[in-house]
Amino acid sequence: MLNQYTMAFGYPPLTKILASFFGKLLGQELDPLKNVLVTVGAYGALFTAFQALVDEGDEVIIIEPFFDCYESMTLMAGGHPVFVSLKPSPTGDGDLDSSNNWQLDPTELASKFTSRTKALVLNTPNNPLGKVFSKAELELVASLCQQHDVLCFADEVYQLLVYDGVQHISIASLPGMWDRTLTISSAGKIFGATGWKVGWVLGPNHILRHLQTVHQNSVFHCPTQAQAAVAKSFEWEQLHMGQPGSYFAEFPKAMQRNRDHMIHSLQTVGLKPVVPHGGYFLIADISDFKSKMPDLPGAAEEPYDRRFVKWMIINKGLMAIPVSIFYSVPHQKDFDHYIRFCFVKDEATLQAMDERLQKWKA
Ligand code: PMP
Repeated sequence: MLNQYTMAFGYPPLTKILASFFGKLLGQELDPLKNVLVTVGAYGALFTAFQALVDEGDEVIIIEPFFDCYESMTLMAGGHPVFVSLKPSPTGDGDLDSSNNWQLDPTELASKFTSRTKALVLNTPNNPLGKVFSKAELELVASLCQQHDVLCFADEVYQLLVYDGVQHISIASLPGMWDRTLTISSAGKIFGATGWKVGWVLGPNHILRHLQTVHQNSVFHCPTQAQAAVAKSFEWEQLHMGQPGSYFAEFPKAMQRNRDHMIHSLQTVGLKPVVPHGGYFLIADISDFKSKMPDLPGAAEEPYDRRFVKWMIINKGLMAIPVSIFYSVPHQKDFDHYIRFCFVKDEATLQAMDERLQKWKA
């Protein structure tokens, strides 16, 4: 009965299909009872992971720009966040920057690992940048995690949304990584229905069982109806895989068109998009505005991107998120010349954006 509790760790038809669907991608035979935990969104999966595994004084390596809750969740668990930034290399004159152009410095990354490091959080495709980590980059992270006996929290909520033929690789599928990785995802992101709040975490039972304990004694159970709906969606998709109408094939194509539409439109007013290769978002460089109108209203210490976004909302009727919020406080000033747009929008919203950009240009 869908109006009653089901298994605390997940509605069986859902855990079963998640095990078979993602087991193939991870190259693992997954046991629906031992390797899958259904949570209230990916947020729930992340929170449970931090609570279960990060102890007082543990260090957690977070790659900037980062989805903002990683820092708070580390702190709430008593841990200490250690940040390392992806850095863009200069682009040719007139060329658009690309998210793949933002790289980690291997020496700097290695220097962040200490005897206190408990986990590294890896978000690919990344929010807000849209970077999809390459195999070589993942191999570097994997070898450091193994060398220092560190866990990897792999947030892969945008894993099915990749563009330009770029391939998403789960770090848990690399040699030696399954045993130390939790792979987190979300039906909200995969099906473009964020309000459903059904997420999950996949991992080896010797780690996952600690999350099961936290889940059982906090949330206990996720709504059965939402889990049943997600199970049905995966079952439908599995039947239509590779056929015309397959949602997992069509959704990324449609979002790539949206991305290209937005990239083109934003440039008409001098915003400079950084081309993303995955996910829901793109960031745009506003350095030219920063040089032309440096004195936008706001407190002197307020990062420029926050002042710019307020100015844009009031004067241009367009909304974006300041990218500095995706950085630790000491690094915010270095990255206050980007703003984040979401391109997972319907046609009418994109048109409304274009109308406002036309007025901006005029
Ligand atoms: N991870 C990332 C990278 C996200 O962008 C989000 C949502 N913005 C989440 C996790 C949370 O997903 P959910 O809505 O399923 O909790």
